[in-house]
Amino acid sequence: MKPKNLGELKQSGFHDLSIRQEIRKNLVSKLKTGETIFPDIIGYYQTVIPKIINAVLAGHDIIFLGERGQAKSRLMRSFVNLLDEEIPFIEGCEINDHPYHPVCRRCKALLKKKGDALPIAWKNRSGRYTEKLATPDVTIADLIGEIDPIKVAEGRYLADELTIHFGLIPRSHRGIFAINELPDLAEKIQVGLFNLMQERDIQIRGFNLRLPLEVFLLASANPEDYTNRGRIITPLKDRFGSEVRTHYPANWTDEITIINQEQKLVSLDGYQIITPRFMKEIIASISYEARSHPEIDQRSGVSVRMSIANYETIVSNAFRRSLRLQEREVVPRISDLSAAFASSLGKIEWFGLEEKREDQTFRAIVREAIRKVFASYFSDSAIEETLADFDHHKKIRVSEDMPAKKYGEQVKTIPSLHTSVERILEKHSPALIASALEFILEGLHLRGRLNKEEVGNEGVYRS
Ligand SMILES: [Zn+2]
Repeated sequence: MKPKNLGELKQSGFHDLSIRQEIRKNLVSKLKTGETIFPDIIGYYQTVIPKIINAVLAGHDIIFLGERGQAKSRLMRSFVNLLDEEIPFIEGCEINDHPYHPVCRRCKALLKKKGDALPIAWKNRSGRYTEKLATPDVTIADLIGEIDPIKVAEGRYLADELTIHFGLIPRSHRGIFAINELPDLAEKIQVGLFNLMQERDIQIRGFNLRLPLEVFLLASANPEDYTNRGRIITPLKDRFGSEVRTHYPANWTDEITIINQEQKLVSLDGYQIITPRFMKEIIASISYEARSHPEIDQRSGVSVRMSIANYETIVSNAFRRSLRLQEREVVPRISDLSAAFASSLGKIEWFGLEEKREDQTFRAIVREAIRKVFASYFSDSAIEETLADFDHHKKIRVSEDMPAKKYGEQVKTIPSLHTSVERILEKHSPALIASALEFILEGLHLRGRLNKEEVGNEGVYRS
């Protein structure tokens, strides 16, 4: 039975830890047992996570600095796992006061009156995490609080704490408060935030109240906004004991693991989605190329969400073909990649390019991505072997809406090419062969070994 009043709680020996101590205690016990602390976070085990652990052990508030789509929000939300399953608080308290030492006026009075009979309630950990996206229109009332006119009308004095309607941060007392895009908070709100966190003062409309809150503060920001002079008031910056820099996946494999984990496609009855490894690598590689492209604003970055959205779009384009051609297997191929332009556009900040130029630049990025992935599969000698039977009388046609079996018929006419197609596939089926064939042909073309003519929506490769 869970304790229902202060007396029972004391008897149960419930701890008297601050939020920071509680999180540290739970982290230490996870570290001892080797439990995964941040499940679902890919590629940060050597870089970001050790820094987070240090920060928690040090009892620091943390700011995550990184470009968009680097799992900053997800990291912040993962801190919920470091909270106790449940904690007791004084029943009816708006700010979750600890039964041992309340900070709000109502509960202090109640404790004095009731003593060990003080009624307590329990709160589970998900209710102790609050997240707010900083925007310029966030107000002091939202974050800190405001005078409640109804309470004033009831005859309370303005300076009385009991007239305050608490905002999100006081309500996060003994919990985690996470602010996304911290530099977007107006300066006066930053001042209010700082006073509350550090000086433990609430300042509302000229009234000052002392309220010793315990809040574990997390924040995120774009690194350039954060270091930009004047965007963050210095004392608030000082408040964060640790700055943790996030990053994009270090390699295709990490990016693909994230795509596999996050993509929301479901196979429909009777249709099977199979995406060859090289297609996923190309999708990851497109994001990689975009992340270093001079015509893309790297300050805001290229989110991993672009890889996920591109994957979903490319597979959907393949699915549309399967429906049209009544093919049961859904296998994306090179000719589906152009569909990704739609899912990429909104995720990239171009340096003032015209729309047509954006399209051309995106195509160039896709070509470079294919070239790199192709190079990882085909050495110079493998290219020679592939081309051995590809004489100048031969040509192969491909297109987005060509049935898979037509690819199989064509490739059989060139045995050396057929061998290479089979070599890069783990399984064989008409749709997989079509995909591998397009990949190899386009790779050879980008290496300058095959000519490609585009006629309508059809591509014709010849030597
Ligand atoms: Zn209270």
